[in-house]
Amino acid sequence: MIKLTNLSKSFGRQQVLKSIDLTVNTGEVVVILGPSGSGKTTLLRCMNYLEQPSGGEIAIGSFSLRCRRASKKEIHELRQRSAMVFQQYNLFRHKTALENVMEGLIVVQKWPKAKAREKSAALLEKVGLAGKLDAYPSQLSGGQQQRVGIARALALEPEVILFDEPTSALDPELVGEVLEVIRRIAKEGITMIVVTHEMGFARDVANRVVFMDGGVIVEEGTPAELFQNPREERTRQFLKRIA
Ligand code: ADP
Repeated sequence: MIKLTNLSKSFGRQQVLKSIDLTVNTGEVVVILGPSGSGKTTLLRCMNYLEQPSGGEIAIGSFSLRCRRASKKEIHELRQRSAMVFQQYNLFRHKTALENVMEGLIVVQKWPKAKAREKSAALLEKVGLAGKLDAYPSQLSGGQQQRVGIARALALEPEVILFDEPTSALDPELVGEVLEVIRRIAKEGITMIVVTHEMGFARDVANRVVFMDGGVIVEEGTPAELFQNPREERTRQFLKRIA
């Protein structure tokens, strides 16, 4: 289970996250929706300490940390338990698909190369890239690069995968293949938090949808509750705009 308590983040004088409380159960897929600038990406980045939260607590499984006084060791532990899939893939350009997936296993988890290679190849096969192990990112489509990014996240067997608009940089015809991979992984029971504007995906795959605006969670519910019966006016307005 993942629990955020009072999570806050300011950039200078701008408070971007205002005391966020969120609980995500093991195996749950939570989609975060909200207008641009509402704090969705910052929330994910704070959970992985890519941004340092200004206050609050983050708990993942049996581990928890207080953001204001987190030690390097605690931040390292937090990052072991969560993995991020980025909008812009963030692959190493000079490494092959296989090497990109192996990297974390070798550097972070100190696996021997042969074992890391075997596991990484199996994961690339799982995301439909068995024939692309030796390709460099520049030789792959955006959809393929993002699938490498997903294999890389899976390699570390995190307790949660954080997806930050995983399909928003893709040409429309490549969105489906990436969503399909995420959908398949979700069925395996991996806990996920997904920031996306893909409403079809949210409807079909999410157990819960969270609507954020202005740095707060305005409301949350099952896809049916939130899409068909939003309680808050702000949610209604947002859904109307993107419909
Ligand atoms: P969303 O993902 O919902 O579009 P973001 O989390 O990216 O929203 O941004 C929320 C707010 O925080 C925006 O006003 C944005 O300009 C601001 N912000 C995000 N990152 C930074 C940063 N590194 N420095 C200053 N302001 C930032």
